[in-house]
Amino acid sequence: MISVQSLSKSFGSHMVLKDFSFEVAQGKTAVLLGKSGSGKSTMLRCLNLLEHWDRGNIEIAGLPLGRTCKPDGQWRRWNTREEAEARQRIGMVFQQFNLFPHMTVLQNVMCGPKRILGQDETTARKLALELLDQVGLVQKQSAYPSFLSGGQQQRVAIARALAMRPSVLLLDEITSALDPELVGEVLEVIRDLKQRGLTMVCVTHEIHFAQDVADHVIFMEEGQLVEEGRPDALLAQPNTERLRKFLSRFH
Ligand code: ATP
Ligand code: MG
Repeated sequence: MISVQSLSKSFGSHMVLKDFSFEVAQGKTAVLLGKSGSGKSTMLRCLNLLEHWDRGNIEIAGLPLGRTCKPDGQWRRWNTREEAEARQRIGMVFQQFNLFPHMTVLQNVMCGPKRILGQDETTARKLALELLDQVGLVQKQSAYPSFLSGGQQQRVAIARALAMRPSVLLLDEITSALDPELVGEVLEVIRDLKQRGLTMVCVTHEIHFAQDVADHVIFMEEGQLVEEGRPDALLAQPNTERLRKFLSRFH
C-alpha cells in the first residue's frame, strides 16, 4: 500500500535519510522508532509531500507520489496544486495538535470537508458528528480547543484528519506532549482505527507506543533503517547492537 524505495534526503550537506526503503501493507500500522534527530519526522514529511527528497521513490496504492510519467516516458515533478490534492488523501497529525483556536470542536472537524472538498453544511456536520462520536467527543462539539485537555484536543485533531477521508494516516509523536494519564485515551482511538483497517505510519521515540499499536516496527538511526520486523520479535530479541542499546534506555 505504501512503498518507499531507496529514499535519500539531505539538508545542505547533512544527509538526513540514506537509501531508506520500507513497505506498509494495506490496513497495517507501521511504527518508525528511533532517537531524536534520526530522521523520523523527515520521513513522514516526505510521505506527505511537505518535503522534497533527492533520490528514490514513494508509491501509495501503487501510484508514484510526487511525479507523473509523461507520454514520452520522461518523469515530470508535480506542481503545487497536484501536491496539495495528494496531501488531502494523506492525513497527518502532529505532536502539537494545531487546532484552530477560534473555532469550536465541531467547526474544526467540519472546516476541511467544507472548504477543501466543497461539502455542504449538512453533509459536513453529519460526518463530523460521526467522527466525534468515534473519538468519544460528541459532547464537546461546541467547546473551544483551549477548554479541552491535551488528550481531548489530540482526539479532535485525529477526527479532523479523518474528516478528509484519507487513505493513509501519518502520526508524528502524537502522545509525546501529553501528560502520561492522557496517553491511554489517544492510544485507544488509534487501536480503534487499526480495527477499522486504516493504513497508518506512526513516528515515535517511545517503545511503549510501538509495542502497543504496531504491526510492523522499523528502527532507524542517523537516517538509515537498522532493523525491522514484528514488534514482539524485534523488541524482545533485537539482532543489532544498535537496537539493543536503544532499547536498554527503557529498562
Ligand atoms: P525527533 O525525535 O527529535 O523529532 P526526528 O527523528 O523526527 O527527531 P528529524 O526532525 O527528521 O528527526 O530531523 C533529522 C535531522 O534533520 C536532524 O538532524 C535535524 O536537525 C535535521 N533537519 C530537520 N529538518 C530540517 C530543516 N528544515 N533544515 C535543516 N535541517 C533539518
Ligand atoms: Mg520528529
